[in-house]
Amino acid sequence: MPLKKVRSHSLIFNLSQGLADKHSRTTSLVGVRTALHTDLAMSSSAVPPPERLRTPMTVPRRHMFGPGPSNVPPRILQAGANPVIGHMHPETFEIMADIRSGVQYMFQTLNPVTLVVSGSGHAAMECGIFNAVEAGDGVLVAVNGIWGERAADMARRIDAVVHTIIAPPGGVFTNAEIEQALIKHRPALLFLTHGESSTGVLHPLDGIGQLCHKYDCLLLVDSVASVGGAPVRMDQQEIDILYTGSQKVLNAPPGTAPISFSERACRKIFKRRTKPVSFFLDLRWLSNYWGCDGKAARVYHHTGPVSAFYSLRESLAILVEEGLEHSWKKHREVAEYFHTGLERMGLKLFVEDKALRLPTVTTIVVPDGYDWKEITAYVMKRHNLEISGGLGPSAGMVLRVGLMGCNSSISSADMVLEALKDALAHCHKSKV
Ligand code: PMP
Repeated sequence: MPLKKVRSHSLIFNLSQGLADKHSRTTSLVGVRTALHTDLAMSSSAVPPPERLRTPMTVPRRHMFGPGPSNVPPRILQAGANPVIGHMHPETFEIMADIRSGVQYMFQTLNPVTLVVSGSGHAAMECGIFNAVEAGDGVLVAVNGIWGERAADMARRIDAVVHTIIAPPGGVFTNAEIEQALIKHRPALLFLTHGESSTGVLHPLDGIGQLCHKYDCLLLVDSVASVGGAPVRMDQQEIDILYTGSQKVLNAPPGTAPISFSERACRKIFKRRTKPVSFFLDLRWLSNYWGCDGKAARVYHHTGPVSAFYSLRESLAILVEEGLEHSWKKHREVAEYFHTGLERMGLKLFVEDKALRLPTVTTIVVPDGYDWKEITAYVMKRHNLEISGGLGPSAGMVLRVGLMGCNSSISSADMVLEALKDALAHCHKSKV
């Protein structure tokens, strides 16, 4: 018997000594051995099958009016239910090519290196940072909410030299402030969040890309909560790296994250001295898998989530049918309608300047004396509707309502207004 087997046998025997004591002392040794072996074989799944998996799964239907995920319409759900085929099959590559063209349209870019990360928005954040930044590079992070904080954390993890400029929650940076910081720190990369979902701010983008390039810096923009619902023109605005998530305006299930890299970004990335810290997010590999590198042969990198690709393709097809400009206009008009309704109820918007309000995610100041948790719990219980509290720097200060993609409609806005009215009438005002 090979050594390994002998060892495992004696291990089984030793381990089972305790059990042996439970058996009758009169049983012969051979009998004990056999009985024990059977016991152990039977209990080779020492963890019993969980009873809870014997009952069918129940998933409630809800109005998903928080900052994400948003509701996934039946057409997109059904697309995801298509048969799974191989992640390297030619038909899958066709679907991936369709997705790339949809993302180019949504981002308004002709960048060939436009693809989708298999992961949520955070994966795309790390894909942008980990590829564009090497240890020792300077990174300037414009922090006006949680996403800047997280980007700074990610860049520090790969030993970048991180500088931050910090705006109070709800605030933005002027181009002059950004230029001053670029002159002072001379970073290799500037990180900026376009749609700050934690504070409800839509950061102006015009002119920032040009400023970055004046100082030989790349511009990385997080548009997870904004793209599709507010104008972004990647090429025109000279954004070097832009990413988003599938679960917001696109109304696809969470788990895929479109990203695009300018030629300037690719020049830096493909001339790196060191390999990116992550194999999974390495742009050389990803751009080959997504057919962006012009090479005829694609090499297996990871098993792409094909069902998620089907859904994403469908959501991009809906955006193409609707038209990007129409989608921007719809989100703006619905947001304005919603904001007016909130103000009529006596609620205060967290972002005072109308021009800086994110049309996809609205932040409402928690009304005096109310507990935000009671309000969100009430509307969930009574109206089957998700809205959420603040996040990061806005925690405890605001309620957040997302009306994105198919949820950006007057009827959804009315539903939230009704639910909030009801909550304010029924939730206790605290005694403070
Ligand atoms: N950036 C922004 C602006 C976001 O709103 C989110 C998600 N709330 C993320 C990044 C992270 O995305 P995910 O949760 O999909 O990882």
